[in-house]
Amino acid sequence: MMQKIIMLGTGHGFVYNCYNTCFLLQNDDEYFLIDTGGSAHIVQNLEKLNINLNKIHNIFISHSHTDHILGLFWLLKRITGMVLSGKYDEKLNIYCNDEVANAIKNIYPNLFPDVYVEEIDRYLKVIVLQNNETKKITNRKYTFFDVMASKNKLYGFETILDNNKKLVFLGDETCNPLLYDRIKNSDYVMHEAFCLDSEQDIFKPYEKKHSTVKSVCENFANLNIKNLILYHTEDTHLVNRKELYTKEAQKYFNGNVIVPNDLEIIEIN
Ligand SMILES: [Zn+2]
Repeated sequence: MMQKIIMLGTGHGFVYNCYNTCFLLQNDDEYFLIDTGGSAHIVQNLEKLNINLNKIHNIFISHSHTDHILGLFWLLKRITGMVLSGKYDEKLNIYCNDEVANAIKNIYPNLFPDVYVEEIDRYLKVIVLQNNETKKITNRKYTFFDVMASKNKLYGFETILDNNKKLVFLGDETCNPLLYDRIKNSDYVMHEAFCLDSEQDIFKPYEKKHSTVKSVCENFANLNIKNLILYHTEDTHLVNRKELYTKEAQKYFNGNVIVPNDLEIIEIN
């Protein structure tokens, strides 16, 4: 069975010209949503791809920053409308660490009318993850782990895809070297790259605990990673970002590099 990564957004936390980084993992007929971006564009981008929200019943939110969590409330608004008109199977699981869970539970009761809040209380289940906990989601096992980020508590995950391929998602901070053993020899690693090395004076990635394309590729050069997926970038040259970033990456990294655009579908072979 073909598995796909469907990128809904590829930008950093304050982009205007694309959506914040979030994506779907498709397994058969169901989708697992990873992060939600920060605005109503999550709903719009799903519509552009003709993906019915009733195919999404599981969401993972990596951390409680605005560009990862706020899209959830637009989804809840749309989903609750669908529930009230009988168009959504009434079950939605959100997997997250305790910080994210607290944020969600504190925010949504204050955002919506009572009739909406009562519905959400009924269909929404927030599942608090512990470090290194494994869960079966859309028929696949995911192990979630703390990436030891510098700011809010940030969780990544690893999973084994079809044909025994290992995929690791590392959130939106430069990977802590303590995780290198975990990601070594992976088939797919998903990591942020804020900007090109030549533009670090403009975008200042390091003070935000982000990487340049060059720095992440150098860090990962000897880890035998087969495919490196870069996202959470600046948005000033989206038209040729793929070429520019790929070219820089290939100077420092031997594996395959994927720099997806919003709405791009990455097929796992
Ligand atoms: Zn972010």
